[in-house]
Amino acid sequence: MKTFSKLPQVHEEYTSVTCPVCGSRECKTHWDCGTYSFQRCTCCKHIYQNPRPRPQDLLDRYDEEYKNYEVENSQNFFQLMIEGLNDVGFLDLEKHIQESLPPLESPKFLDVGCATGVLVRYMYDRGWDSMGLEVCVPAAEYAQANRGVRVQVGTLESQEWQWGTYDLIHSSHVIEHVPDPNEYLSLQHKLLKPGGYIIVTTPNTKSFQAAFMGASWRSAIADHVHLFSRTHLGELLVRAGFEPKEWKTWGGIPLGMAPKGVKRSADWLAKRLGLGDVMIFLAKKPKKSDA
Ligand SMILES: [Zn+2]
Repeated sequence: MKTFSKLPQVHEEYTSVTCPVCGSRECKTHWDCGTYSFQRCTCCKHIYQNPRPRPQDLLDRYDEEYKNYEVENSQNFFQLMIEGLNDVGFLDLEKHIQESLPPLESPKFLDVGCATGVLVRYMYDRGWDSMGLEVCVPAAEYAQANRGVRVQVGTLESQEWQWGTYDLIHSSHVIEHVPDPNEYLSLQHKLLKPGGYIIVTTPNTKSFQAAFMGASWRSAIADHVHLFSRTHLGELLVRAGFEPKEWKTWGGIPLGMAPKGVKRSADWLAKRLGLGDVMIFLAKKPKKSDA
């Protein structure tokens, strides 16, 4: 499956940024992708685009074309999200969250970057008070009209929130698109109740595929402004106040690039070694009593 991405547009303006992990300005070209490039921080080795488009230019890339891509692939993406949730023990987590609430109170769920709302609907059907947040207006409208779910349009920064009210916040393939991942995680920390959980899925730079493909890696696309390793994303989660609980990876060889038997073995090995193409973190906002 091809990853959706727009190439840099002529009207976009690029700005220089510092490394979000260590704050350094020093970096070297890591992957030259032609019209854009990924830099590697000289100090901590985080991989990110620098210079990169302004935040508004990045947001403008999510249009009708993006919505159509998400609609076309929604069942496939849904299956992958369910597999990821299973990997971090979602069913047990859901039971634990439900049991910790007063009777008749529904647990609150937010899907950040919910696209066509397929997971928002799934959680609603499981009894969650479920909402999505989406920057792409056509995708949000599709979710509201076709899945009957609540979706707010915009970014975490642009909304009026009731802080400290969510039990679980999920985002799949979003943090790598976000200009300021520290702010992104801090806001989710503020949104969660003490004892609430965050689930973050994103490409894994320490994967087989990243190592073999380099600048042609399917995640080295123009829309990804950061690419994370377990160490760097783990560090940002801890800095935002989270306690990482689970970490898994999946995906050895992309679909269609090898015979089924070879792909199955590579996928098994990648998961076992933590070298899968995509990683998922489950982390907790500790309660004061946890300290
Ligand atoms: Zn750095």
